[in-house]
Amino acid sequence: MTEAGGLRVYRDAVAVITGGASGIGRAFGETLARRGARVVLGDLQADLAEEVAAGIRSSGGRATAVQLDVADFKAVEKLIQETVAGEGRLDFMFNNAGIAIAGETRYCQIEDWNRVIDINLRGVINGIQAAYPVMVQQGFGHLVNTASMAGLTPFPMNASYATTKHAVVGLTTSLRIEAAPLGVRVSALCPGVIRTPILFDGGVHGKLLQPLLHEAQQRMWEPLRPLDVNVFAEKALRSIARNEAIIIHPAWWRVAWWLHRLSPAIGFAFARQMYNSAQKELAAAAEADNRKAAGTAG
Ligand code: NAD
Repeated sequence: MTEAGGLRVYRDAVAVITGGASGIGRAFGETLARRGARVVLGDLQADLAEEVAAGIRSSGGRATAVQLDVADFKAVEKLIQETVAGEGRLDFMFNNAGIAIAGETRYCQIEDWNRVIDINLRGVINGIQAAYPVMVQQGFGHLVNTASMAGLTPFPMNASYATTKHAVVGLTTSLRIEAAPLGVRVSALCPGVIRTPILFDGGVHGKLLQPLLHEAQQRMWEPLRPLDVNVFAEKALRSIARNEAIIIHPAWWRVAWWLHRLSPAIGFAFARQMYNSAQKELAAAAEADNRKAAGTAG
């Protein structure tokens, strides 16, 4: 379908997806390619991105993979320029790559802050700075910036992550107003909890400030009912096609956001519950370590 202004949704669209080797980015790439888009997957995990692209091609889709660090503006700019030179257009820029450095802020070093900001916020800014001028010149395009529910509500034990995601929401909603008269769409994607590698240790490029076994991390996420990533991608792409401003899936998180705005006290109570559940797992982990150390000493 071609929208007024020339944007292709999604047949024959050209889409660049950062963080396209894994999780949400990968699911977007595979789903868009099935719908006839040509996808470019940029990721630090170059081999995995190539594997995903090869899988798409072997199913008849159109995909390429590129090694990319979204924190490097020159590299992002080069990717966009090469894509536009090769394809003649850019319909979608998914600024999606992200990491988490999870744990209490008192254990956070300045390098941790810088890393999260460089990838989650500067990475989105770099994507916008590279793609937006092209889209303005074309008179069409859609910037999809991955934020999070952590960009709309408090997210204790992940303050640096929440900082960047709140910033991405502010950037996106502000730019959306400016970009609309120029024919460019801008949306903030705010997933709830989606079953992807980032849920464990903050993703392959993230880290935990306080060590916790995967089983314990899983126990913390499961009550929040993680959604299958491919189901998420289908739902999110429908919202993107409708040009929604703030896209929230699974839907029950919209209720959480609404309650938080209605009464921040409810939002704080929910966040406190998440914090308490994390503290419970950390205390159990510390106790297990102590028992092990006592056993070894004995
Ligand atoms: P993921 O770990 O599966 O994917 C993230 C991808 O980003 C990985 O392939 C990783 O290699 C890549 N990446 C990390 N740093 C990069 C860099 N500097 N340059 C290029 N690529 C880089 O996790 P995901 O859940 O698919 O995360 C995608 C986005 O969704 C992130 O922005 C994340 O914050 C956001 N998000 C995820 C959830 C969730 O529950 N999974 C919830 C809210 C928001």
